Order: sequence, then C-alpha cells, then structure tokens
Amino acid sequence: MRLCCFCRLPDLDRNKKCNIVLFSLLLSQQRIYNTDFEQVLSMMLIYADNAATTKMSRTAINAMLPYLDEIYGNPSSLHSAGQRAKDALTDARQRAASVLGCLPREITFTSGGSEADNQAIFSAAAIGKKSGKKHIVSTAFEHHAVLHTLEALKKDGFEVTLLDVHENGVITPEQVMAAIRPETCLVTVMYANNEIGTVQPVPEIGKICREKGVLFHTDAVQAFGHLPVNVTEQCIDMLSLSAHKFYGPKGAGLLYCRKGIPLTNVIYGGVQENGKRAGTENLPGIMGMAAAMEEAAANIESNARKVMALRDRLISKLSEIPHSVLNGDPLKRLPGNVNFCFEGVDAESLLLMLDQKGIAASSGSACTSGSLDPSHVLLAIGRLYELALGSLRLTINEQNTAEEVDYIASSVREVVEKLRKLNPVWQDLISGRREFITKE
Ligand SMILES: *Cc1c(COP(=O)(O)O)cnc(C)c1O
Repeated sequence: MRLCCFCRLPDLDRNKKCNIVLFSLLLSQQRIYNTDFEQVLSMMLIYADNAATTKMSRTAINAMLPYLDEIYGNPSSLHSAGQRAKDALTDARQRAASVLGCLPREITFTSGGSEADNQAIFSAAAIGKKSGKKHIVSTAFEHHAVLHTLEALKKDGFEVTLLDVHENGVITPEQVMAAIRPETCLVTVMYANNEIGTVQPVPEIGKICREKGVLFHTDAVQAFGHLPVNVTEQCIDMLSLSAHKFYGPKGAGLLYCRKGIPLTNVIYGGVQENGKRAGTENLPGIMGMAAAMEEAAANIESNARKVMALRDRLISKLSEIPHSVLNGDPLKRLPGNVNFCFEGVDAESLLLMLDQKGIAASSGSACTSGSLDPSHVLLAIGRLYELALGSLRLTINEQNTAEEVDYIASSVREVVEKLRKLNPVWQDLISGRREFITKE
C-alpha cells in the first residue's frame, strides 16, 4: 500500500490526499491556526466508531436548517409562527410513523434512546404494578439505559430475570418462553447489541409475548437503519430509537408505544407529546430525525450489502492475527460490526495507538470506556476477564472503502504486535508461565 510521504497515512483518495498535502504545507509555513488543524485532522480520520455515534447526513442537516433559522416558533403557540412549527411537528410524526409501520399518535418524541428506554420500562412497570405483576424479563447484555433502569425498579420491589446470553451473543425465543411467569409484566430485549452487533430474534420473541399477554419492548437503537423494522409485523409493543445512531442529530429520539398501552411520564411539566413528555419540542432535532429515518429506510438494502462485504473482509484479515477471537456470531450480526479480543493486549493502549494512526475505534460501549472494568457484554457471552480486557470494536459504514479496511487491518496487526512485546502478561504467555485462553 502506498503511504503519503508527509504523514505516513495511506493514500486514500484524491480529496484526502490534497488535504494532507495542504496540511503539510500549512505546517511547514507555521501558519496553522487551531481551527485549521482540527479541520484537516478530522478529514484524515478513518472513522470506525459508528456504534458510538454517526456523522450527520447532508439530508438530515438540510432538513434541520429552516428550523434553526426562520421557522423558530413554539409548536404550542397559537400565532401563525407557532402553527407553522406545529404543522412541521405533525408532518415529522406522520413520516416517522410510516417508516415504522404504526400510527402517528403511537409515537412520542424524546431526547434520545436512553430516555425512550427509561420511559418504556417505567411505563410497563407501572402497568404491572397495578395488577400485582412485578416480574420483568431481560438479558444480561442490554445497554445500561435498560440495565440501570431495571436496577432502579428492583428498589421498588420488582424482580428481574436477566437471561444468559449464549457464547455467540444471541438469546433464543425458547429462553424467553421459559422465563415468562404469570406475574411477568414486561419482556425487554434489544434488537441488536451495541458492542458485538449480534441480532436477536425479535419477531419470534414478539410473537411469544403477544401469545402470553406480556408487553414486549425492544431497544432498536443499533438495529434501525441496518435491519428491517416494522412494529406491527414484528409484534413489538414498545420500541426505542435514537437519531444520532443513524446519521441524524444528537438529542433526538423516539418511543413507539402501541395504542391502548398507557405511558407514564418520565419528565413532568407541560402537555406536549399528548401529555406524556413535557418540554418544548426539539423541532430541529425532530425534523432531522424524520429525514434521517426516511433516508436510512430507503437505503437499507444497498448499504447493508456494501457494508457486509467490508465487514467480512475486515473480520477475515483480523482473524489471521494469532491469539485473536471474534466476539459474537459471524453471521447474525449487524452489517458494520466487527468486535475482537486480542489476548495479551490492553484495549486502552490499543485505542490510543490506533488513534495516532488516524483510526477512531472503541473497546466496546462508549459508556464504559475510560474505566478499567471489562465490558459487561463480553463477560455476558462468557469471555474470561483477562481476554475481555483486550477488546476492540470497529463499526464501519457504507462510506468506508476497501483500502481503508485494509489499512485498519494492517494497523491493528502492527499495534497488537508492538503492544504484546511490551506486555509482561504476553511474556508469561509465550514462555509458558501462563496458559493461553485462545487458540493460535
Ligand atoms: C446509544 C444507545 C442508547 C442510548 O441512546 P442515546 O440517544 O445516546 O441516549 C441506547 N441503547 C443502545 C443500544 C444504544 O446503542
């Protein structure tokens, strides 16, 4: 592979190369201002952390602009400026509903995925409590927005069954069936996992819950835009989305809740969102989200095909690194998710060194990075503690190229080798003082 003579990054494409040349020229003339520096650096970045957040699409940005500018009325105001904003809100709700296959009034706009998860679970719990049903079924590898909400409910006397996750990162409908009791009020299972990307059998679980008369919520934050979502066909009672995971803005999300299921407020105040979510609506965010939803749904198949090919190329290259292991099922996973553990490597050092090479990656969930604990998801699929400390999540999208994927793979290999040489644990492993967990 050719490397740029100035910065040792690969020659990616003409555009990027020009930026690198420009960057070097500026540098040599000592005329760099902070802003230029940051801008050029961001252009050289290979962003492989789309599960943490995504770059907004041009369509989503353009959809927001009028609402940051001339259409600034409050949808609750009676004057025409307010009514114009209200019309836009109605339109966004209609469009979001048609993408999800539900009614507009079944949609509550929220500040994002965490709030939607909280509201769904607290609402189902409130319904259960009324009839003395205080048991909830979930899984051990949910997002913390779900797990911590369940923890809060335990303090209120709820009993929570967290299903064990198989080593391949998938739970079965049979496990859900077996866990449901007469006093179960809610099953909440994520559609796709945010760390290892594994896809759960949501329609089958939905069917079981419908038959048993138990509410079913799914956190579809990672799945939406990559997997088909239709709440009616898939027997979903409640579903959470977050715009910034599918090229929309941060701070916008939604909760779908099937009609007839009463929602409980998480935020009290005015009567916005049918009285179920107080606070002046984030209209620019909502408009950006509606546009991003339509765009993601329209391109789902072509994007998935392209990204899966890149993903499989990356997985096959990384599998060649000795003592590495893929986390999660190789097939039942999101099109852009790659997650590996490397034995004898510390994830944090790996990420920092990849960052120096212009690659933005993650060790797993953004919420746990920065702490020394290994990911709860990797422990849930049975990875041993020492192995789980060496995790790497690369979440790519349709804008990545095969050249970038190859550059990522060769960089990871190089960095892993470098880090192992410096790691006393690795020295113990290769000298036989400690046993390998993984195969050669
Ligand atoms: C990102 C994420 C969330 C949280 O969404 P926010 O909009 O950032 O609050 C919840 N669940 C999953 C699976 C996620 O990936």
